[in-house]
Amino acid sequence: DAGGKPGFHKMNIELRDIVKRFGSLEAVSHVSLDVRDGELFTLLGPSGCGKTTILRLVGGFHNPDAGAVFFNDRDVTGIPPYERNIGMVFQNYALWPHMTIFDNVAYGLKIKKVPKGSIGERVSRALGLVNLEGLEKRYPGQLSGGQQQRVALARALVLNPDVLLLDEPLSNLDAKIRLQVRAEIRKLQKDLAITTVYVTHDQEEALTLSDRIAVIDKGKLQQVGTPWDLYERPANAFVADFIGINNLIPGQVREAAGAGEEITVGTEVGIFLCRSDVRLETGDPCVICVRPETASIGETESAPEDVNSMSGAVSFASFIGNAVRYDVEIGSGAIFRVDVQNPRNHKPYAIGEKVRVFFSTKTTLAIPA
Ligand code: ATP
Repeated sequence: DAGGKPGFHKMNIELRDIVKRFGSLEAVSHVSLDVRDGELFTLLGPSGCGKTTILRLVGGFHNPDAGAVFFNDRDVTGIPPYERNIGMVFQNYALWPHMTIFDNVAYGLKIKKVPKGSIGERVSRALGLVNLEGLEKRYPGQLSGGQQQRVALARALVLNPDVLLLDEPLSNLDAKIRLQVRAEIRKLQKDLAITTVYVTHDQEEALTLSDRIAVIDKGKLQQVGTPWDLYERPANAFVADFIGINNLIPGQVREAAGAGEEITVGTEVGIFLCRSDVRLETGDPCVICVRPETASIGETESAPEDVNSMSGAVSFASFIGNAVRYDVEIGSGAIFRVDVQNPRNHKPYAIGEKVRVFFSTKTTLAIPA
């Protein structure tokens, strides 16, 4: 392999129209996905949305009721996990407490009847990858949570898997260690260029770690894209809300328009001109979405034709380094956030002050509710 991926093979994963039921519950509904060679692909969604079930379908721990799983061009549907050459890491580490770190990592190699002579070297190399050299003789109980999770990672990597499957690997770690192990996982995954599927319900974790993310709700795929795609062009209100985009205002399409033209949306706090990437019809419920850094704040009533505006009162102001952040109450308790860039040239507004907020129609996005 001259491709710079020592020990790992080129591996694309495809899920084709997968359905998985548990009794009457359809836990996974017609999900089709491609995971590309060498990428870190995240399944993101709330508890119970089906993320773990999809991961287990990739690993072969579940079989689908319909659809197929491909590893490269090989149909692996129905093939058990041990014939898929995967490495899996769980939330709770799942280390054997009565075995040393060495034996925990060596276990899979022994099962695979790897010659004794090379086991020591492979275990050392795997522990080196996760920066745990020298801890071979300890027991899991003598390590911190972050160290235990790195052992679990070494145990998965020692087998040179084609695919790494990580199920909420950071959620048992406390905040500071979580950030550290997260950065390590990212670096290791990139260095090894191992195709990785990662499960989390934490949007920030997903946005910072992933090459691409699939957002899932109630067993259905909502959107697949890069972190930037999801942030810039959320497909619907669920995605926008789940990934933490501010300034979502529910409304209804008053006037649909042709492709590329602006549509008119009525909301409780005003009527706005918006762009839309998907076709929305007159009467459709929708949500308008304005990013705080694209809005501005002022006192005048008048706005140019291509700028939306509405009135409110400042309810909170804070300095966030490169911007001043205002939360403006726009009626009925709803808050609209404005990040004023370049605060040096800016006269501050006081809490309670009546203001108008402005946002270009070009940066006002209408998405399906
Ligand atoms: P969490 O983050 O809470 O683990 P998840 O998104 O990973 O959630 P899944 O574990 O995939 O969700 O579960 C999806 C749905 O399927 C849930 O409603 C769950 O209760 C159900 N489910 C999962 N595994 C089984 C099973 N073996 N038998 C019956 N129902 C199951």
